[in-house]
Order: sequence, then structure tokens, then C-alpha cells
Amino acid sequence: MKKEIVIIGGGIVGSTAAFYLSNHAEYQITLIDNGQGTATRAAAGIICPWLSQRRNQDWYHLTAQGANFYLQLMKDLSQAGMEQLPYHQTGTLVFKNQPHLLEKLYRLAMERRQKADMIGYLEIVEEENLKQFIPVLETQQGAVLTSGGGRLDGSALLDSLQELFIQNGGTIIKGQAQLSSKKTVLINHQELSYDQVILSAGAWLTQILEPLGYKVDIKPQKGQLLEVTTDFSTTQWPGCMLHGEIDILPFEQGRLVIGASHENNMGYDLEVDEQLITDMKTTASQFIPSLENYPISNTRVGIRAYTSDFLPFYGALSDQPSIWVASGLGSSGLTSGPFIGWQIAREILGLENPFDMSPFSPDKYITK
Ligand SMILES: Cc1cc2nc3c(=O)[nH]c(=O)nc-3n(C[C@H](O)[C@H](O)[C@H](O)COP(=O)(O)OP(=O)(O)OC[C@H]3O[C@@H](n4cnc5c(N)ncnc54)[C@H](O)[C@@H]3O)c2cc1C
Repeated sequence: MKKEIVIIGGGIVGSTAAFYLSNHAEYQITLIDNGQGTATRAAAGIICPWLSQRRNQDWYHLTAQGANFYLQLMKDLSQAGMEQLPYHQTGTLVFKNQPHLLEKLYRLAMERRQKADMIGYLEIVEEENLKQFIPVLETQQGAVLTSGGGRLDGSALLDSLQELFIQNGGTIIKGQAQLSSKKTVLINHQELSYDQVILSAGAWLTQILEPLGYKVDIKPQKGQLLEVTTDFSTTQWPGCMLHGEIDILPFEQGRLVIGASHENNMGYDLEVDEQLITDMKTTASQFIPSLENYPISNTRVGIRAYTSDFLPFYGALSDQPSIWVASGLGSSGLTSGPFIGWQIAREILGLENPFDMSPFSPDKYITK
């Protein structure tokens, strides 16, 4: 008889785990998602952890490996028949408003490149040379360029992973799942029993585990961004991480993704704040003045999950090893998410996992 695996949450973690598990015929896998507030579909798409000045080594190690894993994931999607891949390395420009900050960032990146080939070519680009990368850019800031920086279309990745998952015999159910204490999941008045369950529910992990008596160290953070469809030839443009909160990420066919907000104390609110969206566009227009000529073509809202020490966690619960969890991926979850989902799949399949998961053990964040 096939072993039953139920996955609650079809974001980047759950969908990657579903894809890798579905390559193994001895498992019957069901992925459940309610389609609300999915951070992965709202996210900007920057995959460039190496130029972050965050000091936590565990975080850096995980996200750097996560960025590396994209090469493997794209190879696997391609071998499975996906022709249009959602991830491309078109480079990233990280802006700083003072020359000494640029120097400092450049030195950090050079040092990190010794252990992270994927960073690629590095250069400080002075303001007068930026137009060779993005002709419409107007700024007095310089930037550090890393040619290995990537951009991801999170929605397209989920669609590809879920399409292949279904082709491999997996089942997707749309709806709101609840975990019961009887090793079952309740969904749309049905009761599904499981051998293993993966709770990859992002910021909503708390609501799933609380009824079973667990406390979860997760706080939601609202994130909003906007899209502008332009006539610019954006396909090869690098992503721009501007000094401050705003990033501008170019995709194909003139599409620019601009954002994102980081709103604490908004709970799980998914309403678009029109004023905030307009303000973000105004800020971006200071860098690309011709943006004023184009209307906003789309807005997106998602909820990030944060732990109190800003580190993600994943693995099996020590008191219930058939329950696997992953959450707290914060603002770098597109970068670390596929690698985390892949590791969970390997652990469940009993395959070797080359990465040390112990710094990210859920025990510290989930208590009874
Ligand atoms: C605006 C924004 C911009 C971002 N930009 C970037 C970026 O550029 N680079 C980067 O690395 N990261 C970025 N992030 C962070 C990244 O998107 C997240 O960390 C990551 O997507 C989290 O993935 P996840 O699978 O854990 O959760 P999610 O993608 O949120 O998926 C969880 C899913 O579980 C579902 N769910 C929850 N409870 C239930 C239930 N009971 N029943 C059924 N379904 C349920 C939810 O509806 C959701 O679909 C951004 C996030 C936001 C919001």
C-alpha cells in the first residue's frame, strides 16, 4: 500500500516538497491550499543573498545555499519538460548613497565570492555608467553589480511545480485544511488520514497548530507591491535594490515589479492600500522618471512569516515526528524556500541531506 503524505500550504516550500516527493511512486501525495495571501505569489522575486549585510551566519549559509539550489531546481524542471523557466540570472545592482558604503559592500561581496562562485562578476558601477545597464535610470547613487543575481517569477514557479506534481500523480485540493489530533486532516468535510504531514502554511502555521495545544513563535508581516507595464526593453536589465525599502525588478516584456512594503501590526490584512502603492511608485519614479507615463497594471499583497529572532525553522516536531513544519522564512523565503522544501522531501524519503538542518530546528519556535 502507498504511504499517504498530506501537505498543507502550496507556497514555495510546500510546492517544491510536493514536486520532489511525487517523483517517488511509493507515496500518495495530496497538496492542500486555500489560495489566500500566498507570500510566494506576491513576492518581488529577488534572489541575491550575497550582498546582504545581515550578520547572522546561519541565515547567510542557508540563503546562499538556497540561491545555489536554483541551478539544480531549474535543471530538474527542464528535465521534467518545462520549457519556460521562471528563474533567470540577469544580475543585481545594489545601490548605496555614499562611496564608502559602496566600497564596504564590494569588499564584503569579494570576500564572500571565495566560497560562492555563483556571485559571478563584481563591479562598482559609478552613477555615470549605470545607463549602460538601465538606460532610463536617473540617479546620483552608485551601485555594486553582481552578475549572479537572479530574478524569479514566484507565481510561474508555483504553477510549474504544481503542474508537474499533478502529472506525477499528485492531487491538489483547494480549501481550508485543519489538523486533527487523530493523524488526520480535515478538508472540505472530508477526513484524510496521513503517514506524514507537512505544514508549509507560511504565516498561518500558528492557526493550524494552536488547536493541538502548541504555541508557535510566528508573527505576520504584510507586504505589498505594484507592477507597471512599460515599453522598455527590460528582458536583460538587472534587478535594482535601491537604498531604502524600494526595489525595482524588471521582468520580460517591459514589466517592472516595484516594492515591497514591510508592514508590521497589520495582522493578516490583505487589503490593498492605494496610498501606499502610489507612494511606492512615486519613490521609484525618482530613479526612473519616465515611469510617470505608465499606469499601475497590477498590485499584489502577501503575508510574510517572522520568528522573534528572524530565522526560519523547518524539520519534524520532536514529540510528533510524523508532523513536519516549515515557516518563518521572512523576506528571503523565495531564496531559501525551494532548498528547504527539497530538504524536507529528502528527509521524508530517507535520502542523504548534505545540509546541517540543526540550527533551524523547530523545537525552539514551537512549544507545548
Ligand atoms: C511583498 C513580498 C515581497 C517579497 N519579496 C521577496 C524577494 O524578492 N525575495 C525573497 O527571497 N523573498 C521575498 N519575499 C518572501 C517570500 O515570498 C516568502 O518568505 C516565501 O514565499 C514564503 O513561502 P512559504 O511557502 O513559507 O509561504 P507562502 O508562500 O505564504 O505559502 C503558504 C500557503 O499556505 C496556505 N495556507 C495557510 N494555511 C492554510 C490552511 N489551513 N489550509 C490551506 N492552505 C493554507 C496559504 O494560503 C499559502 O498559499 C517577499 C514576500 C512578500 C510578501
